[in-house]
Amino acid sequence: MLVKNDVRCNWCDWEGYEDDLDLIVDLSDDGISHDVHYLKVCPGCKQDGYLMDIDIDNPAKN
Ligand SMILES: [Zn+2]
Repeated sequence: MLVKNDVRCNWCDWEGYEDDLDLIVDLSDDGISHDVHYLKVCPGCKQDGYLMDIDIDNPAKN
C-alpha cells in the first residue's frame, strides 16, 4: 500500500514528501522533561511555519 504524504512549503515553494523534510533539534526546553525534540522543517528554507499538507485526494489544483 502506497502512502503519500505530500507537503508543500508556502515560503519557498518547495514540494515533496514528509520523509524529505529536514530534522532539526528543537532547542526550546519545557523545563520538565529535558528530552531532545526534533522539528521537521522544509529542506529549502529550514522553516516549519509554512509547511502545509497537500490533500492529494482533493483534485482541486490551480
Ligand atoms: Zn521552504
